[in-house]
Amino acid sequence: MSDYEIIIGLEIHVQLNTQSKMFSGDSNADALEPNVQVSPISLGHPGTLPMINKKAVEYAVLAGLALNSEIAKFTKFDRKHYFYPDLPKGYQTSQFDQPICVGGYLDVYDANKEIFRVNLERIHMEEDSAKNVHMSDATLVDFNRAGSPLVEIVTKPDIHDPKTARLFLQELQTLVRYIGISDADMEKGHMRADANISLRPVGDDALYPKIEVKNLNSFKAVEKALLYEINRQTKLWDKQEAPEVTETRGWDEAEQKTVRQRVKEEAADYRYFPEPDLPPLTLTDEYIDDLRRRMPELPQQRRERFRVEYFLSMYDASVLVNSSDVSNYYEHVISELQGWLYSLDSTEGSNEEIWDINGKKLCRLACNWITSEIFGLLSKSKQPFSALKVTAENLAELMTMVYENKINSSAAQTILKHMFEHGSDPSQVMEEQDLEQMQDEDALGKLCDEAIAMNPAVIEEIKSGKDRKLMFLVGQVMKATNGKANPQMVTDLLRDKIDLK
Ligand code: MN
Repeated sequence: MSDYEIIIGLEIHVQLNTQSKMFSGDSNADALEPNVQVSPISLGHPGTLPMINKKAVEYAVLAGLALNSEIAKFTKFDRKHYFYPDLPKGYQTSQFDQPICVGGYLDVYDANKEIFRVNLERIHMEEDSAKNVHMSDATLVDFNRAGSPLVEIVTKPDIHDPKTARLFLQELQTLVRYIGISDADMEKGHMRADANISLRPVGDDALYPKIEVKNLNSFKAVEKALLYEINRQTKLWDKQEAPEVTETRGWDEAEQKTVRQRVKEEAADYRYFPEPDLPPLTLTDEYIDDLRRRMPELPQQRRERFRVEYFLSMYDASVLVNSSDVSNYYEHVISELQGWLYSLDSTEGSNEEIWDINGKKLCRLACNWITSEIFGLLSKSKQPFSALKVTAENLAELMTMVYENKINSSAAQTILKHMFEHGSDPSQVMEEQDLEQMQDEDALGKLCDEAIAMNPAVIEEIKSGKDRKLMFLVGQVMKATNGKANPQMVTDLLRDKIDLK
């Protein structure tokens, strides 16, 4: 038994969210019924003429620019021939030897913050096929998807473990969502990954026939299918029965294994030839530069900026930046907090000095409120972030109430829950529910004395060194104030009083 190097390459189909299809005016939206978004063009009737969707080309170029590819000045479409019931034309209009984008790369962050670069082979445009729907007694074809615009992103075989493959796909999903070209929902098939994997003995430079695993419709499935293949192929190599031909296998989610589908065609089998019904495209420098200028801030840039500007760890920055909605919300909360901080009548100095003192703490707190509290409430109620009723203004206000000791953290939780359910204003909830923090030292002192008097056994335990029993007494005082006491003050008072005795 020897050691093997794992070689993984990915092919990802991303469905572009244009209004119409790649070569016809049919709607490209997610349809509610089968076969309602069709026309003679998407049904592949003879004699119909396709037209190139300008927006789809623009989106493909945007993808190329965001992925550091070289944009081709001259690009054309080709027919890729094969027979399948979901392809009535007998060919798919795709791109063969002159794709719209060549090369490029995407950097992937590992959990331990290392960057791994995955190089790209190419990005090409093509149309989607229709969809076979398998029933118990028949297979039906839904043509709504036929002709939907896709970009196919092909990586070089640069990936050497399943986890990096998953991280790459997650990063790619975030990226295409940021540039707005796709919803990239894997469950809905907006983003579909095929993984090519082969093994070779360590030290060997040759590439051996690869296995292409299809039907991977979740990040988890990609990782599990690759792990399964590594295991299966390792055993074959150990028995000296390594795969001799390229083969397509499917991931069987129910059985948790890959199953053989067919021996893969070579490019020659598709008999590609230039699409005679579509003109080649010439892209000018002005056109490409104009798109480059319209490129929004990309996830990687935003993560870096969040790290520096908001004093966040790479991990925290990633959690926020993985969704542009969440990171926009975060920035809105921060700017509200900044406004509040600068409006305080303070003798601490200039705005910059005030930010220097408080900014770091507030930025991290805001991140915490969003990623633990709000994410927690959302996942408990199974709601997406887009349904959040807590506005950035209100979250910032709640934070300032905690920061100014107007409420304690358990009151803050109660108020946040209310805000989450009803979209309410935090100060209003505080007043209505009488949650303002109790900080009257005399009143709290009396309650502490009572707690001490009523629990002599506990006091003995504390004095004999069981320090954590103090929390019991703090709890008694909190209870007596309906949770409104400042717990730090209570703790300090109790410590004082017990030590004095
Ligand atoms: Mn394809």
